[in-house]
Amino acid sequence: MGWPVTHSRSPLIHNHWIAHHGLKGAYVPLQVQIELLQDALRGLPALGFAGCNLTIPHKVEALKYVDRVDETARRMGAINTIVVQPDGSLSGFNNDGAGYIQCLRDEQPDWRADAGPVTVLGAGGAARAVVLSLADRGAKEIRLLNRTWAKTQALAAEFGAPVKAIPWEQRHEALADIALLVNTTDQGMHGQPALDLSLARLPKSALVSDVIYIPLETPLLQAARERGNPTVNGLGMLLNQARPAFHAWFGVMPEVTPALRAAIMATF
Ligand code: NAP
Repeated sequence: MGWPVTHSRSPLIHNHWIAHHGLKGAYVPLQVQIELLQDALRGLPALGFAGCNLTIPHKVEALKYVDRVDETARRMGAINTIVVQPDGSLSGFNNDGAGYIQCLRDEQPDWRADAGPVTVLGAGGAARAVVLSLADRGAKEIRLLNRTWAKTQALAAEFGAPVKAIPWEQRHEALADIALLVNTTDQGMHGQPALDLSLARLPKSALVSDVIYIPLETPLLQAARERGNPTVNGLGMLLNQARPAFHAWFGVMPEVTPALRAAIMATF
């Protein structure tokens, strides 16, 4: 469920796994206005859904309408997965952070959260998942910058140490001495302008990651790659957050195979 939702690659991923495991069913994109989210969620059991995913702009709002929220999702303040229980009640989870960490580990096996300071751009739903997951894995300093200062301060206060709120105007300087840069804003996404960021202060060794996956290589990742930084795009996060959701709905832990990656790549 999202608004808009037509760009999502999640139907392709889950339908690939449904077919692979010989299950009956389908994963369908549901375009739901935020005002109707409660009605849509409450209709899931009657319609026979095993559950759903939530994307922009529903991740925070949906917290109000589920019957149970798991501990990680509660701390993140957002849910991206709902499971319909046998009694028709709704349980909310958030796999975005675990998906993000797994994708870093898959693509950069030597990566460590405590390798050095981290700069995170953005303070929306994706940022909440990324920041909390990095802090939980031992990041010692997370420099948080967001266009709207009040949200930067609120998130830093909510998560506490090691998160430091830094004004958006200082984003170019906030790249000095870091080991990891994460873009969680929507700048650079298809249809949006590129992120306004100078990489001049960024160490060449720093890993640059973008949670955006359309396009696969955002202008930020392209600029980082061209100056020699290692990069990770947002597709691995999407794939790795999908695995536990599928498992929760169907009882099978699916794999991210070269065939699945190829099927997705063919859509870009
Ligand atoms: P969101 O909650 O709406 O947050 C959007 C963020 O972008 C906010 O921090 C916002 O800052 C910032 N922003 C918007 N316009 C900006 C501008 N002109 N300059 C600077 N910052 C700007 O959205 P979200 O759920 O976090 O999603 C953000 C991105 O992550 C989307 O592209 C989404 O597709 C992607 N995502 C990917 C995955 C994955 O699995 N790969 C998972 C989740 C999300 P303000 O607070 O100032 O508005």
